[in-house]
Amino acid sequence: MLDKVTRIQTDLQGSLALTGIGHGTDRALYLGLMGETPRTIDTSSVDEKLARIREDKMITLLGEREIAFDPARDVDFRGDIMPVLHPNGMKLTAFDQVGVVLLCETWYSIGGGFVRREDRMGAERAKEVLDVAYPFSSGDELVDICNRENLFIHQLIARNEDSYRPREDTFRMLDEIWSVMSNCIGRGLITKGILPGGLEVARRAPSMYAKLTSHGPANEREALLDWLNVYAMAVNEENAAGGQVVTAPTNGAAGIIPSVIMFYCASDGLAEMEKIRTFLMTAAGIGMLYKQKASISGAEMGCQGEVGVACSMAAGGLAAAWGGTPDQVEHAAEIGMEHNLGLTCDPVGGLVQIPCIERNAIGAVKAVNAARLAVQSDGQHKVSLDQVIETMRQTGLDMNSKYKETSEGGLAVNVVAC
Ligand code: SF4
Repeated sequence: MLDKVTRIQTDLQGSLALTGIGHGTDRALYLGLMGETPRTIDTSSVDEKLARIREDKMITLLGEREIAFDPARDVDFRGDIMPVLHPNGMKLTAFDQVGVVLLCETWYSIGGGFVRREDRMGAERAKEVLDVAYPFSSGDELVDICNRENLFIHQLIARNEDSYRPREDTFRMLDEIWSVMSNCIGRGLITKGILPGGLEVARRAPSMYAKLTSHGPANEREALLDWLNVYAMAVNEENAAGGQVVTAPTNGAAGIIPSVIMFYCASDGLAEMEKIRTFLMTAAGIGMLYKQKASISGAEMGCQGEVGVACSMAAGGLAAAWGGTPDQVEHAAEIGMEHNLGLTCDPVGGLVQIPCIERNAIGAVKAVNAARLAVQSDGQHKVSLDQVIETMRQTGLDMNSKYKETSEGGLAVNVVAC
């Protein structure tokens, strides 16, 4: 019915409205209406595309049909509505030329770039774990299967993914993920300037990188921290500037996994891709547990669901890349979350800059330490990954909505955004 549409009305609801401008939700919305996708968009063309909408008050739906579109009239930020199904709601209504509603749908942004229509909420979670060689729904189950079948976690995940596509396609997709991650680090390390949004936050990764590389290889013990910091911040500064990132598991927490991989797996010559695939598949297996049992949405869980989960995934991934057993990987992932429990989401000005950029640097360092603690142990520990995921879920439910991606509490109200 695209040729009948003459107007689109969009209501952003809940957290999606309250942090919408700072998070670039409005920009993403316009680009989505134009048919762009995060995976394929040429990010250097974004500003020009958005300027056309502002100046001409026109938009080309799906790149095919041009209609009048005035953001001030057609996009409503309904922070007063907190949807019951998920705090990130978006209602889209298409009208014909006499104002008859052609289609009206409500979608939810459920974390990590995933969106789900209202009638599919809850339905697909179960489907995601069916029809695979080794279905699992808890950390204990995952480790038990691995031990029983004599598999590492990444091997189990690879076999499960075989149900969806040939193994070589899975590897190709993993390599593509790493390619986007490493390109993002590369851009972030050299792109200078002030981040958009009005907070006047300067990009720091380029100057940190210049210092790190100007005197040859550094021998100080702190060089480990410097590299993890600069890689993570390079990614999150790119994210804050609207550059292409991999949600890992989310945009706000996109720097932790690439940083740890870059430091530990990307300088081993021929061995690197195998290590990186091991890392990514293990991290993915851990991420699945959080998605199944709790949430990776800052709007539901606070920052523990974003940076905390990324830290947990990275810790597990690194332990696996170091050759850790499934028990040690589970332990690493558990430690990675345990010390992020209660972490609130309070972005200043709704922008994913303060505290988010530094928080990724801290998260990367914490992930390495968690992996180290785990591989130095025999895998025996008092707190299980399942217990810590459930604790995160309960903490997220108890957390005041001021601290769940609404910018109504914490640093967001104590640091003046001007
Ligand atoms: S504080 Fe954490 S959860 Fe909130 S926007 Fe920043 S990175 Fe995302």
